[in-house]
Order: sequence, then structure tokens, then C-alpha cells
Amino acid sequence: MAGLADHLRRRIEAQGPLSVAEYMADALGHPRFGYYMTRDPLGAAGDFITAPEISQMFGELIGLWCVVQWRSMGAPDPFRLVELGPGRGTLMADILGAANGADPEFTAALRLHLVETSPTLRAAQEEALASARPQPAWHDRLEDVAEGPLIVIANEFFDALPVRQFERSHEGWRERLVDLEGDGFCFVLSPPLEAAPPLPPGLGRWRDGDVAEVSPSGLEIAAAIGGRLAASSGAALIIDYGHAESAAGDTLQAVKDHAYHGVLESPGEADLTAHVDFAALARAAAGAGAVVFGPMGQGAFLEALGIGARATALTRKAVPDQAREIAAARARLTGSMGELFKVMAISTPGLPPPPGFD
Ligand code: SAH
Repeated sequence: MAGLADHLRRRIEAQGPLSVAEYMADALGHPRFGYYMTRDPLGAAGDFITAPEISQMFGELIGLWCVVQWRSMGAPDPFRLVELGPGRGTLMADILGAANGADPEFTAALRLHLVETSPTLRAAQEEALASARPQPAWHDRLEDVAEGPLIVIANEFFDALPVRQFERSHEGWRERLVDLEGDGFCFVLSPPLEAAPPLPPGLGRWRDGDVAEVSPSGLEIAAAIGGRLAASSGAALIIDYGHAESAAGDTLQAVKDHAYHGVLESPGEADLTAHVDFAALARAAAGAGAVVFGPMGQGAFLEALGIGARATALTRKAVPDQAREIAAARARLTGSMGELFKVMAISTPGLPPPPGFD
């Protein structure tokens, strides 16, 4: 056993079973062996594909969203354009291209900030954005981005943040933990918890065997975004797969080579995600003083922003093979991904509803 599995084994031997969040944080983000730290997982040759990697239309429409949103904020100059977890930088490159074509004043006013922990993906972003002016500044955390008017974009970022899992039993709540079993790992349950775990409120009655998930870092980031938007003019666009209402269920999953994989099977070698609880993020952002719109399905959102017209315009310049690709990408973004993926906006109180939510 090598690398991350070895590290996890030694950690469990020293301190006992790990919470699911501790396991997930190491599996994805361990500085030396973490999944995102050591590779570029995106695209056909990687483990999974995301909307901006499917089609440029996705980023272009979000670029136009940013321009309209910035105008409705009163066109502040300067303002910060912040992306959380920018992957290969494809989404931001498409955003900047479309936004600059639509409104060069937007480009002149923006300061670009990328929040990214992976050195491999930072290098990919640097390459994708080599011609971007101004050049991006990179940060490990949103807190490191200076105050002021801002627009925040996060696509498939929140699903990568660690979750804790709690299981209801007739003796009360227990936390699901990761322990050693032979050469590998297994799930075990903690003794019944003395204090109630930080569950999403308003879920009604729990039944024995129910699993509740909470993402402490996700809630913290949503509250930080809400606090910033309450203090300065701006908006955030959060796109991810998950549920609109908090619900019981174990949604932790691993994906490797575009197929499901055992969650505990190859730590550091497979992507690990959990569904995003949009209602919980909305409560955290609203609790910090911001206003929340949606979530709505990604399909309806992209249709509202005009993906139909964009696809038609691109098709006019396309050869038949490209035309088929454009149609397939539109169908995928709005069809198979269109319901599971959701879009939520967070905004400064008093601003008009963000585009797509009006
Ligand atoms: N938004 C991109 C990539 C999604 S993958 C796209 O749509 O294609 C998740 C991204 O979040 C990766 O760039 C990963 O390195 C980054 N990431 C994961 N956890 C993070 C954390 N805690 N802080 C900052 N970035 C993180």
C-alpha cells in the first residue's frame, strides 16, 4: 500500500477512526497525495467531464450573465470577478471572451481572482488564461480576496467539499466514520452522540437508518459569500448537482474513468463528491444578510439565458459535424444534466433579480 492509503492507515492507527469529512478532505486535498493535487481529472481522458468542458456555450452564456449583472450593480469600477475551483480555466476563458465582446468596459473594470488549491490545476488555468488582461491572482481561500463589489462563479465546486455523515438509530445519532479493515478501509459508527449533530433544520421526523449529510466547509463558504454580498454590491452564481430541499440520504460517491467506484476503494485515485444541499447553502447565505434566488434547473436557466439563439448562431458558421456536436451539447446541458444540475444565485439586497431569475 502506498501514498494516500498508507498515510490514512497511519493516521487512523494514531488517532482512531476518521470522520467522513476528514477522509474526504485527505482523499481530495492532501498536499502530496490528494486526488486534485496530483492530476487534472477533467475531460475525456480523465475521470469526469463538466459543463464548460462539454461546450463553449455554457461559459459564453455565463459571461453575458456577468455583464448584465455588473450593469445592474451600477457598473462598479473596479470590481472583483472571482471563480471558486476553476478546474482547467475553460469556464473563465469562455466567460472573458464573451463578456469582452459584449461590453469592453466590463473587462476594463474587472480584477480577476481564482480560488484554487491544486497546483496542477493552477498551472492549467495559467495556460488557459495566458492572454487574459488583467492576469488572474490566485488564492487558497475566498477570505484572501480583498473586499469590494464582486461577482462570484462556482461550477461543480461545492460538491467537492467534505461532508460529515450522521446516522439515526433508536439510541440517537451516531457519526459515520472510516476505520481500518484488513488491508483496506470500512465504515463504522461512532457511539451515540451526546450533543445533537448540526443537522439541516426543518427536515421533520427522522427514521432509524436515515443518513444526514452536512458540509461544514460548504456552509462556511456560503455564509462568507452572503456576508460579502451584504456588505458590498454583487452576486454569486452557484451551479452544481444536488437537491433543492434538504433531504435524508447518503449521496457520497466516487468516480474513476467515467464510472462509479467504491468510495473507500482507492483513496486519492478516484474523485469523491456529495450532492449539494442547496437549501442549506441558501440558509447560510441568507443568514449572513444576502438574498437568494432559486435554485432552478440548469436546463431552464440556460434556456432563459438564450442557449437556443446561441446554438443557432454557432450552427450558422459550422460544418455538418460541428453542427451535430453543437446540437448534442445543447441537449446534454439542458436535457440529461438539465434537472439534476441546479443554479442558485445569491445577491445584494435591493438589486434587481439576476438574469435568468427574473
Ligand atoms: N469548475 C471547474 C472544475 C470543477 S472540479 C469545471 O466546471 O470544470 C472542482 C474544482 O475545485 C477543481 O479545480 C479543484 O481543484 C477545486 N477545489 C476542490 N476543493 C477545493 C478547495 N477546498 N478550495 C479551492 N479549490 C478547490
